[in-house]
Amino acid sequence: MTEFNWCHGPKCHQRHTTGRIRGVKGNKVLRTRKITKSSQYNQSAWGQYIHNYFCDDTCMRDYIVKHLREVVALHPRPDALETPIDVVKEVKTYNYGYGERTYTDTKITERGAN
Ligand SMILES: [Zn+2]
Repeated sequence: MTEFNWCHGPKCHQRHTTGRIRGVKGNKVLRTRKITKSSQYNQSAWGQYIHNYFCDDTCMRDYIVKHLREVVALHPRPDALETPIDVVKEVKTYNYGYGERTYTDTKITERGAN
């Protein structure tokens, strides 16, 4: 048996596409799309996190628009986060053929990261 999720898009069952039509003549419906967990989408990292729950980007966007405030309320960011870094500026010279020019290259490295 194949594992699946129903698309979490709040309007998935209202979108007029032939792939959503189910039922017999005179009793047809547009149904929420089924997402097979072994689909190609799920092979990428993006797929693992997003396409296990949404049939496409439109349904994902609809879900975010409808539920973003609830998600943010569950995981609030009351303060700014900081990453300790070292900044090294280095003046470099380049020549495109019409004279030398200099620019400042800024390198940012996270402190403690190796
Ligand atoms: Zn959908």
